[in-house]
Amino acid sequence: MSLEFIPANAADTTMTRITPPTVGPLRRNTHTYDLIRQCIHCGFCLPTCPTYAVLGVEMDSPRGRIYQMQAVADGRLEISDEFVEHMNCCVGCRACETACPSGVQFGKLIEAAREQIQITNSAIANEEEEYTQSNTGFPSMPVTASQPSAISWPAKLLRRFFFDIMLPSRLALTVIFGGLKLYQRSGLQKLVHASGLFDIINNLPTPFKGKLSLPETLMDNARGEILPGLLPEVTPALGHRRYRVGFISGCIMDQVFRDINEASVRVLSANGCEVITPPQQGCCGALHIHGGEAERGRDLARHNIDVFEAYNCDFVIINSAGCGSTLKEYDHLLRDDPAYAERARVFTSKMKDINEFLMSIDLNRDLGEIKRTVAYHDACHLLHGQKIKQQPRQLLKSIPGLTLVDLKESDWCCGSAGVYNITNQEMGRQLLERKMNNVVETGASTIATANPGCMMQIAMGVRERGLPMEVMHPMELLDESYRVSGLYSMPARDVVVTRRQRQTLLVGVGVGLLLGAILLRRRNKK
Ligand code: SF4
Ligand code: SF4
Repeated sequence: MSLEFIPANAADTTMTRITPPTVGPLRRNTHTYDLIRQCIHCGFCLPTCPTYAVLGVEMDSPRGRIYQMQAVADGRLEISDEFVEHMNCCVGCRACETACPSGVQFGKLIEAAREQIQITNSAIANEEEEYTQSNTGFPSMPVTASQPSAISWPAKLLRRFFFDIMLPSRLALTVIFGGLKLYQRSGLQKLVHASGLFDIINNLPTPFKGKLSLPETLMDNARGEILPGLLPEVTPALGHRRYRVGFISGCIMDQVFRDINEASVRVLSANGCEVITPPQQGCCGALHIHGGEAERGRDLARHNIDVFEAYNCDFVIINSAGCGSTLKEYDHLLRDDPAYAERARVFTSKMKDINEFLMSIDLNRDLGEIKRTVAYHDACHLLHGQKIKQQPRQLLKSIPGLTLVDLKESDWCCGSAGVYNITNQEMGRQLLERKMNNVVETGASTIATANPGCMMQIAMGVRERGLPMEVMHPMELLDESYRVSGLYSMPARDVVVTRRQRQTLLVGVGVGLLLGAILLRRRNKK
C-alpha cells in the first residue's frame, strides 16, 4: 500500500472522501479517535517495531498503522484487504508504547482496529446474505472492490469454533488438550508421521494447508496429566495468613503448564497467601480482544468479575503475562457499560502479576540454593503491556546460587504473540530466529520467562537447535528453591515458629553486638 503522510485536515481537498465507519470503535469523535490523535508522527517508535524491522515498510510500523486507522476514521481510506493485512501483521508486542514520548496507547488502538475489521466483515457477510435472499437480485449496498474479501466458510467455522466453543469452555479445552497429550504420548504421533498420514492431512484444502507442522512442533511435550482436574478451590497459607488472593488459572497455562500453576499456588501459599482458585472462572478474553472479538471478550470479562467479586479477595493474581495485561484493562474494556464500569475498575485495581505481587510484599526468604545460570526473556505483555521489568529479575536474583546473565534484546518479541506464530508463521519464525541467536550467546542453562506463549516458542527454538537448555517460568525456580530449603516439608505451624525463632535470634544478635560495642567504647575511654 502506498499512502503518503497527509495531515488529516488536508484530506478534504486532496483525497476522495468515502463513507467513514458509522458503527465500531474507529469512528470519529470517539475515545479511540482521541487516542489516535495523540500520535505526533515523530517516528521514535519505528526502531522498536519488530514488523518494521523485518519488512521495512512504513505501513507495517506503528506510525503507519496509526495513520491508516485515522484515515479510516476520517473517511480517507476503506477497510480493504491491504488495511486488514497491515493490522494483522502487527504482533501486538506494544514495544512502540514503551518508546513513545507522546503516551500513545497502541495496544488499545490495534484492538480497536481489529474490532472494526470484524464489524465490517460481519456487515459484508450480512449484505451478501441479503443479496442471496433478495428476490430482486440486487444487494442493498454494493460491495466495492477495495472492501475486505469475504472469509471462506471453513475459516469462518474454525474461527467460531476457536472463539465461541474452545476458549470459553474448560471442558472443550480439557478434551482437546487431553487428545493432544494422548496423541503425543501413545506413539500415535510417530505412527501418523511414519505412515505419511500427516503429510496427507497437512495438504488437504483447509485454512491450515501446509501449516500444521509448526503448531505440532510448538505443542510438543505438553506437560501434566492427560485430563487435569481443577486446582483446589482453597489452598491455605503456609504459616500465618497475611493475604487472601484470587488465582487465575488461565486456559493454556492450566492445560499445557499445569505444573507452573501448581508451583505458583505453592509459592503464594509459602508467602502467607490463602489462595482461592474459583472453579467457575473462565477464559480472560485476551485472545478474543486481540483477535477483534471484543464483544465476546466483554462477556468473558463480566463473567470473571462476577466470579471473583463473590470471594472478596485482597488481590487477584495471574502468572501469565498476556492474560494479565488484558485483565488489568477490564476497566477500559467495560468503560461504557453502566452496570460493570465501576466493578471493572475495582477488579482492575486488585489485579497483580505474580512477580509484581511477590516483590511488593515482604518476600519469604527461606530459599534454598539452586545452581543454575539463568537468562531472563521479557514477555512483551509483561514489559511493554504492564511495565514490569525489574521484579522478575529481582526474584531470580534472590535465589541463592542462581546466576542471572544478560540476554541481549531481551525486550524484543520472540514471535509468539498469542496465536500469531500459528497464523503468521513466516514472521513468527523470523522473530524466533533473532531471539534464538541471542539466547545461544548467553550460555545459560535456563531461560526464564513469565508467559506460556513465549515459553512454548522459545522451547521450540531450543529443541530445534538442540541446545542444552531448559525453559522455565520464574515461579518454577522459586518453587524449586523453597523445596530445596525444606520449607514445604515443614508443617504449617513450624514455618511460623521457625520464622519467629529466626527473628528472635536476629534481634538477639543485634542487641548483643550493640551492647558489645558500647562496652568496648567505655573500656577504651578508661
Ligand atoms: S505493537 Fe509491536 S508490532 Fe505492533 S506496531 Fe507496535 S511495535 Fe510494531
Ligand atoms: S513514537 Fe508515538 S507519537 Fe511518535 S510516531 Fe510512534 S506512536 Fe506516534
